[in-house]
Amino acid sequence: MEKPAICGGTPVRDKKLFYGHQYLDQSDYDAVMEVLKSDYLTCGPKITELEEKLCEITGAKYAVVCSNGTAALHIAALAAGIGKGDELITTPITFAASANCAFYCGGRPVFADINEKTYNIDPASVEEHITERTKAVVAVDFTGQAVELERLQEICKKNHLVLIEDGAHSIGTKYNGIPVGSIADMTTFSFHPVKTVTGGEGGAVLTNSEEYYQKLLLYRSHGITRNEQFLKNESHGPWYYEQVDLGYNYRLTDIQAGLILSQLDKLEMFKKRRKELVARYNDAFSKLDTVTVQEEIPQSDTTRHLYILRLNTDRLTIDRKQFFEAMAAENICCNVHYIPVYYFPYYEENGYKKGICPKAEALYEEMITLPLYYAMSDKDCDDVIKAVEKITEYYKK
Ligand SMILES: *Cc1c(COP(=O)(O)O)cnc(C)c1O
Repeated sequence: MEKPAICGGTPVRDKKLFYGHQYLDQSDYDAVMEVLKSDYLTCGPKITELEEKLCEITGAKYAVVCSNGTAALHIAALAAGIGKGDELITTPITFAASANCAFYCGGRPVFADINEKTYNIDPASVEEHITERTKAVVAVDFTGQAVELERLQEICKKNHLVLIEDGAHSIGTKYNGIPVGSIADMTTFSFHPVKTVTGGEGGAVLTNSEEYYQKLLLYRSHGITRNEQFLKNESHGPWYYEQVDLGYNYRLTDIQAGLILSQLDKLEMFKKRRKELVARYNDAFSKLDTVTVQEEIPQSDTTRHLYILRLNTDRLTIDRKQFFEAMAAENICCNVHYIPVYYFPYYEENGYKKGICPKAEALYEEMITLPLYYAMSDKDCDDVIKAVEKITEYYKK
């Protein structure tokens, strides 16, 4: 049996492999340079072009791009009408922003548990957490896999809740053949460098509702409008605008929009490669009885953003932390997505206690994020597989 590097064996590779990395090429550099040489660095034509492109890709009627995915969630929660004392149901297995957006609006996030096979929010648990104060659900397409949209839409419709899909991981994913972005009441995207498509920073909200669209535009830019239809007083002249609500400066620059547009031209290429790598991992890991592969619902045609491996810790003599360290010794830098949101001190201080989502907490103890990104070679992927095989075999009970 081969010795893991952590016990003095030879590491599977010399060069460190990271869990994610952006991919940019000459066309991206050119796209940014073109904007830098143009008349508009912000609020210019690239913004409209990007919004049109996102509508074309997703089939949504309206898109509002903004400074990042967190801002997208904030303005979506505002447009959904979240206010003081309102509740918003979400999953604990996500980045904190999915839940924080409730606090931004004076409301409270409420955590529903996950499905232990798919790791996405469990619609039955959502139903159990609905109260008179519930206004919205933020369902996260965790790792890129679409949530159970049909069930969630049914539940939201019945209870008059707004369904916000946090699609930070899922650009390119389809649900029943329909692209994510045109299904939920509002869908948010992030263009952070670790996501499938990047602008350095960037975000977007997609919707089919004209009403939400108009609100999103206001909240993105100070609550200011020039649209005659929404003015409260008579116009003073062509320069006239009004602040009709309290909004923010959540605008995206044209520089970022130019980069995102150029990245979106590569979306099909990104999708294809990510799917190949996921298939390669799944093939290898489904043969091991020491690990569990994330299950997919048949409705989701997934562009995977993260690859999660679940350790069957009852069959291993090491825990997740030791496994993580053993992988690092093989020069494979993993990560963990995510620490359940309500474990954080801020949440504790706000009255959240451990134990509220047992399935999410159990998953957290056993999960590890393996490298997955466009530019990974087959050899990189096979090195990760080799390291997992070596470590799990050595520490098998
Ligand atoms: C990245 C991420 C966000 C936040 O996006 P930013 O662009 O970093 O603000 C929100 N939700 C999820 C699930 C994310 O992964």
